[in-house]
Amino acid sequence: MASRSAGLPVVALVGRPNVGKSTLFNRIVGDSRAAIVEDRARTTRDRLYGDAEWNGRRFVVVDTGGLEIAPGDPIEEQVQLQARLAIGEADVIVFLVDAESGFTPADQDAAELLRRTTKPVLVAANKADNARREQDAAEFYQLGWEEQYPISASHGRGVADLLDAVVWALPPESDAELARKAREAEAEAWAKDVATGRLEPYVVGEEPEPGEGEDEEPAPDAEGARWDAMMAAESDEPPAIAFVGRPNVGKSSLLNALLGEERMIVSDVPGTTRDAIDTTVSWGRSEVVLIDTAGIRRRGKVASGPAAERYSTLRALKAISRADVAVLLLDARDGLTAQDAHVAGYVVEEGKGLVIAVNKWDIVEDKTHRTFDEFVAALRRDLPFVDYAPVVSISARTGQRVGRVLELAVDVWGERRRRIGTGELNRLVSAAVERNPPALVHGRRAKVRYATQVGVAPPTFVFFATDPASLHFSYRRYLENRLREAYGFAGTPIRLVFREQAREKRPRRGGGARARR
Ligand code: GDP
Ligand code: GDP
Repeated sequence: MASRSAGLPVVALVGRPNVGKSTLFNRIVGDSRAAIVEDRARTTRDRLYGDAEWNGRRFVVVDTGGLEIAPGDPIEEQVQLQARLAIGEADVIVFLVDAESGFTPADQDAAELLRRTTKPVLVAANKADNARREQDAAEFYQLGWEEQYPISASHGRGVADLLDAVVWALPPESDAELARKAREAEAEAWAKDVATGRLEPYVVGEEPEPGEGEDEEPAPDAEGARWDAMMAAESDEPPAIAFVGRPNVGKSSLLNALLGEERMIVSDVPGTTRDAIDTTVSWGRSEVVLIDTAGIRRRGKVASGPAAERYSTLRALKAISRADVAVLLLDARDGLTAQDAHVAGYVVEEGKGLVIAVNKWDIVEDKTHRTFDEFVAALRRDLPFVDYAPVVSISARTGQRVGRVLELAVDVWGERRRRIGTGELNRLVSAAVERNPPALVHGRRAKVRYATQVGVAPPTFVFFATDPASLHFSYRRYLENRLREAYGFAGTPIRLVFREQAREKRPRRGGGARARR
């Protein structure tokens, strides 16, 4: 399990209000090279956690200042909370101070806490917009760190040097990170081959020329073989499932209920080391890995309340990044909270599968045959961006439907790995485009030429089109809905990436006989 024990490393930004944490956050996340997953579903989630990449290294940036600090808390307390959170969960801490307003007692308090950790702490003196401010920043050497980075988050000055240092301080790349990189490079190469015409595309929305084969299947080719190898490598690992949710929703009760089920055989008891925080179990004919069971079992460390929720969110985030499917537990009495919506948004952005389990169903009063449907309807309204996630009502206390949770999670895992053949896909897309062509924008109409699936987990499709920028979000959504209608993809996000296909560049036709609708 060692390979799963580290997902993306976490870099936390700590500092008192107004030092420029969110400005720096936006710069780091905004400057990062967009990977193939460029068209991620946008959600309403606050921008607290962001994916970043620098010098080829991916990491999650957390703006700890945005973690729903109660507005009434004194500043010192807020900063100390952030610092503790960062010490607990981050791999590298960026301690931001303000060269414009200078040194304050809140900085001192945070520094005292941060000095105690063995994790790398990088002091960044922000608002060092010019040489004079940069000199002023020297006063922060009294915080006790030998090195500090004068930066200007708003102008970008010094940020590259800071990021070099951040990446340098990260723990070594885990197997999981390396595997993820290899997969992305593979998908990228695949898309390039199609774009450059080395892999012959299928033409959407054009009549085949007379005499062209109507029904023949594409010949097996090198790309296909490469794809198969990739898929085989991917399916080696058993489904990894994370249970996430606010404190007291019943995560540990659910875990215990499952472990008590006869169908479940624990094959890998979690130990005390960092590498053994996951549990491998046999579930019917499949094997599944339950992520961070140590974290679920660890009780009583933080009580309930907003502080506990902040900690649990970051812990959940790390679990999700290592999982294939997240089971989001809700408390039936509370319905959906803002915190739950954050977590759901994060699951989508990470491209993970999602199952929503409504726990404590046993104590919902005056249930009728419509109570569940009404609950689901409210969820769909509040979380429209995960309308594909299966919902199940359970009781961890009585054991009602707890097995169903795992069954759904394993199903979702399968959906995430589904692959649609290019011929079949293009027949579907072709029909969808014919039925409802893209709208005219400034006198031009985008033309969707062909599509191909370039990846799984989550299923990722590249659409080549003329003027893809003019394809409205609602049209992308229309295409996504047609894909879901035909193939389901229950519980998994799917990604649609649109790329430019020059108007004049006609896909090759002669000889290959593979160009067809
Ligand atoms: P946070 O509360 O720590 O997240 O701080 P913000 O990112 O919201 O920034 C607080 C204020 O400082 C905003 O008005 C920013 O525009 C400003 N600010 C942030 N970075 C810089 C900088 O590098 N130079 C200057 N002059 N102002 C900055
Ligand atoms: P966690 O913090 O998410 O791990 O939550 P726990 O599993 O510790 O549960 C918190 C509280 O909710 C405990 O008192 C449980 O007994 C109770 N609880 C958990 N699941 C259920 C359930 O399905 N029904 C009822 N009535 N209570 C539950």
